[in-house]
Amino acid sequence: PANSLETEDVEAVSPTIKECVPIIETEKTDSALSFIVVGASGELARKKIFPALFSLFCEDRLPENFTIFGYARSALTNEELRNMIIRNLTCRIDKRKNCREKMDQFLKRCFYHSGQYSSEEHFLELDEKLKEKEAGRSSNRLFYLAIPPNIFIDVVRCARRRASSENGWTRVIVEKPFGRDSETSKELTRDLKQYLNEEQIFRIDHHLGEELVENLLVLRFSNLVFEPLWSRNYIRNVQIIFSEDKGLEGRGRYFDNYGIIRDIMQNHLLQVLALFAMETPVSLNAEDIRNEKVKVLRSMKPVKVEDAVIGQYKGDSSYPAFTDDPTVSDNSLTPTFAAATLFINNARWEGVPFLMIAGKALQSKRAEIRVQFRHVPGNLYNRKFGTDLDKVTNELVLRVQPDEAIYLKINNKVPGLGMRLDSSDLNLLFKSRYPREIPGVYERLLLDAVEGERRLFIRSDELDAAWKVFTPLLKTLEEKKTAPELYSYGSSGPVGVHYLAAKHGVRMG
Ligand code: NDP
Repeated sequence: PANSLETEDVEAVSPTIKECVPIIETEKTDSALSFIVVGASGELARKKIFPALFSLFCEDRLPENFTIFGYARSALTNEELRNMIIRNLTCRIDKRKNCREKMDQFLKRCFYHSGQYSSEEHFLELDEKLKEKEAGRSSNRLFYLAIPPNIFIDVVRCARRRASSENGWTRVIVEKPFGRDSETSKELTRDLKQYLNEEQIFRIDHHLGEELVENLLVLRFSNLVFEPLWSRNYIRNVQIIFSEDKGLEGRGRYFDNYGIIRDIMQNHLLQVLALFAMETPVSLNAEDIRNEKVKVLRSMKPVKVEDAVIGQYKGDSSYPAFTDDPTVSDNSLTPTFAAATLFINNARWEGVPFLMIAGKALQSKRAEIRVQFRHVPGNLYNRKFGTDLDKVTNELVLRVQPDEAIYLKINNKVPGLGMRLDSSDLNLLFKSRYPREIPGVYERLLLDAVEGERRLFIRSDELDAAWKVFTPLLKTLEEKKTAPELYSYGSSGPVGVHYLAAKHGVRMG
C-alpha cells in the first residue's frame, strides 16, 4: 500500500487507502435505529443536522431500518417538518442528479412529535411512536440535544425514564457549551451522569469533524519524517489560529454570554493542541487516544493573565461594532478576540510556546496550525552570503481554511548562476490532489455517534482538564472587569497580540 501512494491517479489511490485505515462499516443489521433531534425547530437542526443526515442517507451510511424524529415544543406536523427539511437543504448532495428521488425516500423516514422538554408524559408518547416504527425489532436510539443547555437535564431525565431503548443502546449527543467554567461544567457532567453513563454521552465539537483534524494524527504517526522533529528539540513555537472575517451581526445574544475564549479556545483549539502534542497512543482506539489527550491537558498550567490579550471589534461607517448588535448589551466587555500563550510542562514540550489566536470580524477567515522550527545552527549560507535566511526558519502549516492544505516552507536556491536563496513551499493543496467532495463535519460526527466511535467526542476528564486551563483567566478577567482592547472590523486584531507574540519569540504568519 505505501508505494501505491506514489501513483498520480487519485481515484486509484483511494481504495488502497481504505484498505490501510480501519474504517468501521455501518451496521447493516436487523436492528432499528431511531434518531431523535430534540430542538428540531431550531437553527442547528434545520441547517446542519437534517442536511447531514440526508447526506449520510444518500451515501448509504445509515442502517437499513432507520427513522428520524424531530421533537420540540413548536406545533409542527410531519409535513411541516418535511417542508422545513427541504427548504433548508444546503448540503453537498443537493447538486446530484437523483437528489429529489432520494429526498422523497428520506422524508418518508422523518416524523415529528411536539412536546414539552420536561414532560415525561410527552416523552412516553414519543416512545410509543418510536416503538411503532421500530416494529418489534431490537432498537438503538440516538438523541441529539439541539437545544439551549439550560434544558439539557430535563430532556435527558425524560428521555432516560420514558423513551430510552429497552433492548439496544441509547446514546445522547450533547452540544456545547459544556458549562461556563470548571464548576458549572462539573455540575453539568454530574447531572448528566445521574441519568447516563459516560459511554452514552457524546459531547460534540463540530470543528473536530474537520478533515485536517483527523489528518493531523495520520501526518504525525504514519510519516517517519515528522515525528522525530515533534518536540522542543526542533520546534520553536506553534500557533493555532482560528479567525473569522464576519462579526456576530444579530447573533450576539449567545456569544455575549460566553465570549471567544469559551466558544472557541477552551474547547476546539485546546482539543487541536492536545492532538498535536500528545504522545503516540497505544492504538487508534478512542479510549487510547483520549487517554493521551488528557495527559497533555493535565500537563498544562492555567493561562496567566499576562500571557493573554483580549479584544472586541469596534464599528465604523461601513461595519457595526459588536455592541451595536441589538442582542448585545451596550457596555459589554465580552471578548470577540483572544490570544493566549500556553505551555505544556512535560519532557517533550517544556518551554515551547503554543500561541492560540481566535477572533471574529478579522481580515480573513482562516483556520490553521503553524509550526515554526528552530534556526539551522551555524548556518553556512548565512555566514558565507550574509543572507537573512537564519531568520526564515522552516515552517510547517496545516491549513483547514480557506483551502485545505499542508505546506512546508523550506529554504531553496533560486535557479541561476549565482547563489541566491529563497524561502519557498512544498505544497499539498487538497483540492488539486484530491478533487472530490469533502463530507461535512456533522456527517462524520453523526456517523461516528451511530457507530459508537468516540475518538472525536470529548470525554468528561478531558473537559475537566480543559476547563482548568482557562477558568482562572476567565475568572480574573470577569472579576476585574478587564476592558478588551478595541480593534477595527476587518483588521488583524488588537495590537497587543503582536507584543504577546514578540514576547515569546513567535513570528506571526
Ligand atoms: P435555538 O435557539 O434555535 O434553539 C433550538 C430550539 O430549542 C428552538 O427551536 C426552540 O424550539 C427551543 N428553545 C429555544 N430556546 C428555548 C428556551 N429558552 N426554552 C426552551 N426551549 C427553547 O438554538 P440552535 O438551534 O441555534 O442551537 C441549539 C444548541 O446547539 C444550543 O445549545 C447552541 O449553543 C448549540 N450550537 C448551535 C450551533 C448553530 O450553528 N446554531 C453551533 C454550535 C452549537 P421550540 O420552541 O420549538 O421548543
